[in-house]
Amino acid sequence: MNKINRPAVAYFSMEIALHPDMPTYSGGLGMLAGDTLRAAADLGISMIAVTLLHRQGYFSQSLDASGWQHEGPIPWNIERYCHELPIRTDVTIEGRHMQLRAWKYEVTGCGRHVIPVLLLDTDLEENSDWDRTLTNNLYGGDSHYRLCQEVVLGVGGVRVLRALGYNDVARFHMNEGHAALLGLELLDESAKSAGRSTFNTEDVQTVRRNCIFTTHTPVSAGHDRFPIDQVQRTLGRSDLFDNHEVFCCAGELNMTYLALNLSHYVNGVAKKHGEVSRKMLVPRDIDHHYTIDHITNGGHLGTWATPSFANLFDRFLPGWREDNASLRGVLSIPAAEVWKAHQAAKQNLIDEINVRTQASFDIKTFTLGFARRATAYKRANLLLHDTIRLRNLAEQTGRVQIVFAGKAHPHDKQGKQLIQEIMRLKDTILPEVKIVYLENYDWDLARFITSGVDVWLNTPQPPLEASGTSGMKAALNGVPSLSILDGWWIEGCIEDVTGWAIGDAKSSDMGEADCSARDGNLLYEKLQNVVIPLYYEQRDAWLRIMSHTIALNAPYFNTQRMIQQYVLKAYYE
Ligand SMILES: *Cc1c(COP(=O)(O)O)cnc(C)c1O
Repeated sequence: MNKINRPAVAYFSMEIALHPDMPTYSGGLGMLAGDTLRAAADLGISMIAVTLLHRQGYFSQSLDASGWQHEGPIPWNIERYCHELPIRTDVTIEGRHMQLRAWKYEVTGCGRHVIPVLLLDTDLEENSDWDRTLTNNLYGGDSHYRLCQEVVLGVGGVRVLRALGYNDVARFHMNEGHAALLGLELLDESAKSAGRSTFNTEDVQTVRRNCIFTTHTPVSAGHDRFPIDQVQRTLGRSDLFDNHEVFCCAGELNMTYLALNLSHYVNGVAKKHGEVSRKMLVPRDIDHHYTIDHITNGGHLGTWATPSFANLFDRFLPGWREDNASLRGVLSIPAAEVWKAHQAAKQNLIDEINVRTQASFDIKTFTLGFARRATAYKRANLLLHDTIRLRNLAEQTGRVQIVFAGKAHPHDKQGKQLIQEIMRLKDTILPEVKIVYLENYDWDLARFITSGVDVWLNTPQPPLEASGTSGMKAALNGVPSLSILDGWWIEGCIEDVTGWAIGDAKSSDMGEADCSARDGNLLYEKLQNVVIPLYYEQRDAWLRIMSHTIALNAPYFNTQRMIQQYVLKAYYE
């Protein structure tokens, strides 16, 4: 966009994964944000991003002897990666003026184009002790802490942009509802420039023209909501809810609805998620409806290709980083080369596992991977719901190794119980089935696991997986998915070609409260009858699947294609 001198897009996200040594993200949302910026930088799009500094990181995970998760801080070397900007601004919280500064990190594309990222920081001497902690912990603290962080991100973020002279931002992109309060600042700016002291519907129209919202959460319980009195107390103003439908939903401020009401373009992150969002997000006012599109997520291929595959692509398909679609040419690479690249990635993973654990994994054994946030709907334990059956099928078809990883949110007791259950079962079906649970799932570990296993397993409870992106990273490295048909896999699955479905789309769509017994059986059947025999007995067919997995899915499920859709549908519109 900069090539024809269009003003910038400002991309706001509570978390962004910028560098493996910067723990400023918790999982898929932050990784997607980072991959989005990396693709935008490759394409030379004029963009600037805003997030919080997260001095203490998300958290470091340790599992005790009983398998219970404990959390610790991950302080990181800020000056090593970011530099402090000389500007200051402030936001008002509970009547206090809180000072803000920003640090800059630069995302550099493959053609050297740079996208600056502003990381907001309240840790300044002028601020009270409590205020200084506000940009420490991603998703930490209570509801009050969260709301204050969202004021810093949304309101503070716009003010920092202005203080730096970004007065002609064409589009504000809210990546999830956490950033919705940027709309409040834009409304105030609009009113002020018209010489009014409070905003009106005209200002709402102006702001809508400038805003875009991407929703990632297919359950209403996942949306940030704050009681009106809490919002009034925190923001120190009572005008928001008086006349403006924009802010008020049934006694609370719902950040998803605020973002919806203030955006002219809204999208879900996969085709199915668009449908689910259209059903779920219904306006109170029946004369009006939300138009919700979808743009399917992707991964940044240059980031997620493991070295052995990046080298292979460099040799056979030079220019793939600049033009991701050229990876369709993988079908012309000799299968033996693809296998060699895979075995190198698998060896790296196995070495890492054997350094971290006593499990003695080996390269010949069929290896399944499951790594993502540990939370109930992702059903990490589905594969272990009948361990006797799992052992029996491994006895018949060939041995199985399973690598698990993932952090539970510190307040997610169910998520922690899931980890504990896996830890309890992991040594009970040796030697046919070896299981490890690796601590501290993060960017580096995600690289090892998504590229190094033979099959990527995904078992969400439909329709709760908005998209999922780790299976895309696996596909790029020739690792087919075995997955419930939900999120991106509805689009990505071609049975026996790019991987396998667990169940069919219809049964996935029933939205039953508990279909785990049924899905577990379907998973065992597919493993026993199709996947494991194919791995051990039909190597040529297996290799065809690996090549098709890359050739059909990498050229599409990448953030380069994704950001181009944002440009056409949202940024230029
Ligand atoms: C890609 C990635 C995720 C996202 O996983 P999904 O559950 O498949 O969306 C989470 N955490 C890390 C560290 C990742 O790299």
